[in-house]
Formats: sequence, structure tokens, C-alpha cells
Amino acid sequence: MSEDALSPYRAKRDPARTPEPVPPPGSVSPGRDDTFVVQEHHASALHWDFRLERGGVLVSWAVPKGVPLDPAVNRLAVQTEDHPVSYADFEGDIAGGEYGGGGVSIWDRGTYETEEWTDGKVKVVLRGSRVEGRYVLFRTGGSNWMMHRMSPPPAGYLPLPARVGPMVATAARAVPEDDERWAYEMAWGGVRAEVHVEGGRPTAWSRDGIDITATYPELRAMAESMGATQAVLDGVLVALDAVGRPSVGLLRQRMDVTGAARVRRLSASTPVTFLVVDVLHLDGRSTTERPYRERRALLEGLGLAGPSWRTPPAWFGGGAAVLTAAREQHLDGVVAKQIESPYRPGARSRAWLRIATPRTRGT
Ligand code: MN
Repeated sequence: MSEDALSPYRAKRDPARTPEPVPPPGSVSPGRDDTFVVQEHHASALHWDFRLERGGVLVSWAVPKGVPLDPAVNRLAVQTEDHPVSYADFEGDIAGGEYGGGGVSIWDRGTYETEEWTDGKVKVVLRGSRVEGRYVLFRTGGSNWMMHRMSPPPAGYLPLPARVGPMVATAARAVPEDDERWAYEMAWGGVRAEVHVEGGRPTAWSRDGIDITATYPELRAMAESMGATQAVLDGVLVALDAVGRPSVGLLRQRMDVTGAARVRRLSASTPVTFLVVDVLHLDGRSTTERPYRERRALLEGLGLAGPSWRTPPAWFGGGAAVLTAAREQHLDGVVAKQIESPYRPGARSRAWLRIATPRTRGT
């Protein structure tokens, strides 16, 4: 009986406690089998729910890293209970403690065409605003499937690079004379980190190319907050003291630590903050050739701000005043970056200058 298709769905939910639609038994009726929706679901583990309307319900998979745009990458898709068709409109917050507790938002929706539909294989053409193309889902065992894009990547789409490598500043004695051609940031004196984010998950490397992802679990919350944004971020990990100043002593307690239990303990007692200063790749495009001012605008557009990450300010021109402010805040100095300069991966460059505050100069 058709109403049975939604029994597992109803059994998991209390209509009095969830804002999700819970249609009564017997309300399932076949439609046109042509609607798809992808919902971003910030549950205990971030995932994207991929749903295809079929036989009066939404046949559903939870895709932990989201719908792949790169045909070279297959993504795990775990089949979940059929959802009511009205769920395709659902956005909202499911209360913590309830089944699927967390925020749900529509990431994309549109129409689809079926090319093949068997017990272990579903081949469709999606027409949404963020996703267009042919996809196949194939069962690998039990409720586990893989999702694969059969079309070429979207026009101009570049997958995340393996690792970009840091651009390095050259030491300088003073603020440049052509001050208006430079932007200024504080020199934070922490652990330089390149953080890749895809599917809401981070991967991080130190300046020397060591994988430090497991050492700094604070990065996970930032990556999760970025949803489906694909990015390479350049920044500095710092440990802030009681008055909010970066402390090298505190940071040392976190460096080179491995072992999940120890990392967990230390991230609670001595948390780090990721200060993001540059974006080198964003949503399928490399940004390294774009001038600093454009990269800075893209970075600010990401609105990265949370309990363990933020985008510290940059000032365009006015280097002398920034250097004075750095000294007053007992920071090591400032980094001057030529406004029109591209990012030079792995290179020491004169387009970035590190100027020490007088207090620390020569010590
Ligand atoms: Mn879900």
C-alpha cells in the first residue's frame, strides 16, 4: 500500500516536536517523477540530502560531502528513508535532540529526467540552478551508494589543487614610500597554515607541507560553517592569551601534538584561532593570479567569523599608523602587501614586506 512508503519516515518523527512536514497515512499519490532537491543539513554531522521525487515520495540519500561537481570524484551517498514530496519545500531548524536535529536549507532544486532506475542503479539528468548534468548513483552494499557525475565539470571548473604553498614576505626596515600602493595587515607570528575546504571538511598543511589537520580540530567548525563552499585559505594559527594577544608560549603547547585524546584535551584547555588572510582558490577557480585587492574582497565576501576563526582587518595605505598600532598592541610588526600583486606560491617575494615594530627590531 502506498501509505506504507512513508511509515519509516513517520516512525522517526513526532509531528508535535518537529517543524518538518508529516503528512497523514494514505496521502501519498504519484506525481510526475521529475522534481529533485538538495538540502544542506547541519545535523550532528554536516551532509547534503539528495532527493528525487519518484512514485509519490522523495527517494533520499544523505551525501556527507555534497553533490560532486568533479567527475573524477565519487561521493558516498547513504540511502535514507523515503521523504514526503512536500519535504522538497522544507527549510528550518529541527530542534536539538530530535531526529536529524539541526538547520536545513535548500541548496538547490530543479527538475530531473530518469535515464535508468533499477534496484542498485539510478541514472538521472539534473537541471537545477547550481547543479546541471548527468549523474549516476550505484549501490555498493546495503544502504551505501556512490554518487558520480557523468558530465564534464561545469565550464571553467577547476578541482582543488593538491597544495598551493605559501607566499613569503621579505624583511624590510620601514614602511614603503609609495604607501598608497600597499595594504597592511598585522604580523601575527603564529603557525602559517594552508587550509583546503571542500564538502564542509578541512585539510591543513603547515608552511613546510606537513599535514596538520588532526593537530588543529578547531578548523573543523570553520569548514562546516562554509557549507558547500570550496576554498583554499591562507592564514595563521595563533593561541590567544587572556587579553587576546597571540602567545607563542601557548601556541607551542599545541604544535606537533598528535594522538586524538591529547589533541582533544589541549584544544579545550589551550584553543587556537585561525586568522584567515588570503584566499587562493574559490568554488572551482584559482584566484592566485588575481591582484591582492580582489582576493581580499573575495575573502571578506566569505564572512569568515566564528568562535575559533576570523578574518583580521587589512588597511589600504596608512602603513605608519598601522605600524604604530601594532607596537601599541605588542605585536611583532606588520606585513605590507602590494595591492596589485598576484599570489606567488612557495616564493619569497618583494611584493610582500615584513616590517618589525621598533620594539622588537633587532632582538
Ligand atoms: Mn538529513
